[in-house]
Amino acid sequence: MGIKNLLFPTKNLCYLCKDRNGVVVDFICNECRERLVFSNKEVDLDTDLIHRTIYCLSYNKYLKEIVHDFKFNDKSYLYKPLAELMFITIKNKEIKDIDLIAYIPIHRKKEAIRGYNQSELLASYIGEVLYLPISRNNLIKYKWTKEQNTLNRSERLKNLKDSFTIRNPNEFINKRILLIDDLITTGSTFKECANLIMEIGAKSVTCLALSSSKS
Ligand SMILES: [Zn+2]
Repeated sequence: MGIKNLLFPTKNLCYLCKDRNGVVVDFICNECRERLVFSNKEVDLDTDLIHRTIYCLSYNKYLKEIVHDFKFNDKSYLYKPLAELMFITIKNKEIKDIDLIAYIPIHRKKEAIRGYNQSELLASYIGEVLYLPISRNNLIKYKWTKEQNTLNRSERLKNLKDSFTIRNPNEFINKRILLIDDLITTGSTFKECANLIMEIGAKSVTCLALSSSKS
């Protein structure tokens, strides 16, 4: 039994369906696990600035509901099972040689409304499991932008342009960064942030998302 099981006395509780009757491993019961489909997919975002871009699960109907609950229905605790799934991909795709974990920020107003940044929660858990430091409140989103999925391609690029910034470049200099997000919609968010991080002198950026709705 790992230390996680000692810290969370929620034996046999599936965090996804709240059932207690199944066999639960890493917060997910067998039945829910069967509804999730691993992609472990490497994506080409057509940029030299990103070392690798990988996502974990295919964006099927079941995962779509879970991600929606995670982001919009106040179910912040879902970061535990979801980060465990991402950890499987980290092992499977041999993501290693990382110095620092960062996450895609959301605007502070949005975070205030939601109460948390879902990508920060995922990154924090992954950092704990891998014993790696997390960069917090350094890469920030300062421009209020529309939801990417409401825009067309050219609007999306314009929407994100100059909307992120880095407060303390020193933290990233010469580091190999693992950048975490929940969902790849177009890839432009990862590209925009990786661009910024590499511009200030990081060694490499590897992008990891839970899933991708990108066609
Ligand atoms: Zn379940």
